[in-house]
Amino acid sequence: MHRNIWYPFTIIEDAPEPIKVQKGDGLWLELEDGRRIMDCISSWWVNLHGHAHPQIAKAIADQASKLEQVIFANFSHDPAEKLAEKVTQKLPGTLNRMFFSDDGSTAVEVAMKMAYQYWRNIGQERKTFICFEGAYHGDTFGAMSAGERSVFTEVFKDLLFDVEFVPYPATWIGDPDRTEKESKVIEKVEELLKENPEKYAGIMIEPLVQGAGGMNMCSKEFLQELHWVNRQFNTLLIFDEVMTGFGRTGDWFACKRAQVEPDIICLAKGLTGGFLPLSVTVCSDRIYEAFNSSDPIKTFWHGHSYTANPIGCAAALASYDLMVENESIFSNMEEWHLGHLEKLKNHPKLKKLRVCGTIAAMDISAEGEEGYLNPIANHIKEQCVDKGLLLRPLGNVLYLMPPYCTTKKQLAQMYEGIVSLIDEVA
Ligand SMILES: *Cc1c(COP(=O)(O)O)cnc(C)c1O
Repeated sequence: MHRNIWYPFTIIEDAPEPIKVQKGDGLWLELEDGRRIMDCISSWWVNLHGHAHPQIAKAIADQASKLEQVIFANFSHDPAEKLAEKVTQKLPGTLNRMFFSDDGSTAVEVAMKMAYQYWRNIGQERKTFICFEGAYHGDTFGAMSAGERSVFTEVFKDLLFDVEFVPYPATWIGDPDRTEKESKVIEKVEELLKENPEKYAGIMIEPLVQGAGGMNMCSKEFLQELHWVNRQFNTLLIFDEVMTGFGRTGDWFACKRAQVEPDIICLAKGLTGGFLPLSVTVCSDRIYEAFNSSDPIKTFWHGHSYTANPIGCAAALASYDLMVENESIFSNMEEWHLGHLEKLKNHPKLKKLRVCGTIAAMDISAEGEEGYLNPIANHIKEQCVDKGLLLRPLGNVLYLMPPYCTTKKQLAQMYEGIVSLIDEVA
């Protein structure tokens, strides 16, 4: 490891030497030793259109030589305004106000602060959030508090605030118990809200797919019921679409696919097509209006140095145009995945096969500890590169989340690679 770098999510002593990447080109990454591998996971789920896409690269270069950065309070600029118009047009009707920040974690912090202060501003004290077991919302303190307590958060547990956790009704192809699991969760949420409706500032969920928690998938019917309960008790529904946004679930956003209107939505990873860090939190007019006051105590005192960075916004606009062009790809990829999963359904080492839009996942039957630290993950990480693939299982959960430039044939190669890897390591 480089002697001046501290790598993230890396157990230092056990870590293998990081693989140096020289170049990116569409689906492909070119390594220092000349080998080429397919990026089957869009590099931590950010890269939507393939690496080094010339249209986004050009938009960035053009913007950089025009206006690279400007203070965003009392000043504004075209790239931010255009981006806000375009993205809100694709979101459900009431989500009209866009607040900019830097990454998924800060988008979540902003959402939680907005929801909390919204109630204060209208004269109520609501201090708790309802969150989901298995959730991952980021690594800052608010986001950690809202996420599953795990090895990631263990050391900090005394500093985290309490939220109310309910189970995530994860389901998969051929799951006979889906509706039963869902009713139980809905009942639990109803119970909490009935008992003390004024306690809860909001319900926060990763809609349709929980990412880092293990690519757990829930149904759109469940989200519709959750939305209904939320309406009945007048709380705020927050969708963390940091991962599910921008085509990942087969529609532009999970809320669109599920036909649910949240009060707040967080977007990050795919926003710039994987080129630059940028995120947004979009809220309804109802929330924004509660901050529309001359009273400083009702003001939202939050912002970051690089808020709405023009180059980031220009990249996001170029990525948006590519999304429009490639809509048929991200909306059809679920069918492609299904064809392959059908062939794997009787594989003795695989269970809980599942798919949502461009994301397919499966559990490998493996010995050892459940969850993120299952040793199978390291075996696969070590050997996938020899198969020409970049994979990064979450414990014993193997998943594919390819960029939208992936062809049917390339997807078939990914599945072939997976099958031969599992034969070797599982
Ligand atoms: C990755 C992720 C985050 C955190 O985003 P960062 O950009 O890594 O801070 C938050 N929520 C979800 C659902 C994510 O997948």
